[in-house]
Amino acid sequence: MAIKYELLKECPDTKARAGLLHTPHGTIETPIFMPVGTLATVKTMDPRDLKELNAQIILSNTYHLYLRPGHEIVKQAGGLHDFMNWDRPILTDSGGFQVFSLGDLRKIKEEGVTFRSHIDGSKHFFSPEKVMEIENALGADIIMAFDECIPYPATYEYAKNSLERTTRWAKRCKDAHKNTDNQALFGIIQGGMYEDLRTQSAEDILSLDFPGIAVGGLSVGEPKDEMYRILEHTVPMIPQSKPRYLMGVGSADALLEGVNRGIDMFDCVLPTRIARNGTAMTATGRLVVRNAKYAKDFTPIEEGCKCYVCRNYTRAYLRHLIKCNEILGFKLITYHNLYYLLRLMRDMRLAILEGNFLHFYKSAIDKIKL
Ligand SMILES: [Zn+2]
Repeated sequence: MAIKYELLKECPDTKARAGLLHTPHGTIETPIFMPVGTLATVKTMDPRDLKELNAQIILSNTYHLYLRPGHEIVKQAGGLHDFMNWDRPILTDSGGFQVFSLGDLRKIKEEGVTFRSHIDGSKHFFSPEKVMEIENALGADIIMAFDECIPYPATYEYAKNSLERTTRWAKRCKDAHKNTDNQALFGIIQGGMYEDLRTQSAEDILSLDFPGIAVGGLSVGEPKDEMYRILEHTVPMIPQSKPRYLMGVGSADALLEGVNRGIDMFDCVLPTRIARNGTAMTATGRLVVRNAKYAKDFTPIEEGCKCYVCRNYTRAYLRHLIKCNEILGFKLITYHNLYYLLRLMRDMRLAILEGNFLHFYKSAIDKIKL
């Protein structure tokens, strides 16, 4: 078994829980946020920055690495860890989200999905077996089964057919996965916004006994209340012994709400993507550093933030860098945003361990909504 989840403490008032996830490249303290390194790099951050930020695990994208540089090259380099000089845990997604997002550029069949590259239009084919071959070559500690993440809204019929195919594909992924000693394959629960379909998907996926379970198909454009309703319905069906991963969620309020509902792992491009637009995340909400009103503001992004950026740079300077498209501006705001989210996760974990989570959650949520 490549990974093992160890439950340390449950919140008496909510579903929140703190634990340890033991992986081949080290132990992760959960709940955790995973910065996204799409092309084997968390944009503008080198591994030294990520370690300074105490990032414990990062995510990388199978679809993108398959197209560039190609999984065979990564394999020849000794796997993703060696290739990108990151010796801590890595999770790779299945490419399903990207492939299904291609719209007219892809065709779905039972066997798999034919698609055209978003880069040069070249034709490719992903099946569960092919995705396992790629993820095995990349060598991440945690790998995801090939699934369909359906759009929102989707009809009941579509959601049902899709989740049933996702279950069949999950079985094929499990059969094709060649490196079970060093890579843990997670199954993904789908079913759109329909509770009975979520139940059906959960029962099917759980029957395959994956070492970890993801809740997929959320944060795809639905109102947040819908996402929380589906989480409340779905998470209690997942056994306590399995890590639970909510895919594609990274706003501070959704992290608080997700942990509150028993989620252990999150990933999202949000903190790094908005940083490159000159937007910072703070405990009171987003701060658009590039706005003219900060031109002569010589205070840090967030008063009281202990990160390297807030200790050394002003809003005025960061705004100047962003306005001039200077790489340092993107880097510094990315650094602060990741620091902020990783600190939020650590604070939540500490509050759970101290039996204080409900109080922490309420005061943090109130502040964000200011
Ligand atoms: Zn800061």
